[in-house]
Amino acid sequence: MPYLLTIKNLVKRYDTHEVLKDINLNVHKGEVVVIVGPSGCGKSTLLRCINGLDEIQGGEIVFDHKTISGHKTKWTEVRQSIGMVFQSYDLFPHLNILDNILLGPTKAQGVKKEEATKQALSLLKRIGLEEKKYAYPRQLSGGQKQRVAIVRALCMNPKIMLFDEVTASLDPEVAREVLDVMLELAKEGMTMIIVTHEMAFAKAVADRIIFIDAGMIVEESSPKEFFDNPKSERAKRFLNRFNFTKGDDDE
Ligand code: ADP
Ligand code: MG
Repeated sequence: MPYLLTIKNLVKRYDTHEVLKDINLNVHKGEVVVIVGPSGCGKSTLLRCINGLDEIQGGEIVFDHKTISGHKTKWTEVRQSIGMVFQSYDLFPHLNILDNILLGPTKAQGVKKEEATKQALSLLKRIGLEEKKYAYPRQLSGGQKQRVAIVRALCMNPKIMLFDEVTASLDPEVAREVLDVMLELAKEGMTMIIVTHEMAFAKAVADRIIFIDAGMIVEESSPKEFFDNPKSERAKRFLNRFNFTKGDDDE
């Protein structure tokens, strides 16, 4: 099966600080790759390189059969196929929920408002927030806003979704609702790269776990392998900090 995303020998530096060192990663269509690792190891930077928010200093990124790591890349075009959701939901405060969602498809993609609205409402319905369509972001809880942010990205019909610690600032209960939306997307075959500190969720959702430490991929394995039997000392130390031991969530 061809890869949807291929990252070859990626190097990312800020000045002289090498933040990502020789990263190699392939993602199949429909695959859910979860990236874990200590704070500051380069997870967010990697996601930002994939959608062109950060320039890379070495290597190559191929997405959907096109090299997207060169200077000629038309990022506004590429980003329409790459949905990204961050920890902060950054919805526009002066626009209601529906208009927040419609902005991308109607303004950036030129989709007819009627058509985009239809999709937006059906997605809002699926996450149980249809009745909030005319509400403003300030009237929603953090978890609701984050679910809207996911819908907003989905409304662009992306080929891949990148999630960067989307539940990090949410209460556990509310986080659950957001994680459930992501689990649902995974089941439907959405290709996703997820950065998370929610280890039980990572184990449940991932087809593959990537463990990054100090800018390098230290382990790459199935969730079962990684959580039950981490190979490296660094991964063992990392997992110990979460008290995530075998069978925490599933037995
Ligand atoms: P993570 O998401 O894994 O916590 P980041 O990707 O945010 O880590 O950061 C990786 C490293 O890159 C850190 O050492 C961080 O300080 C550094 N870094 C991130 N963004 C910048 C930037 N814009 N300028 C300089 N250094 C940065
Ligand atoms: Mg980060």
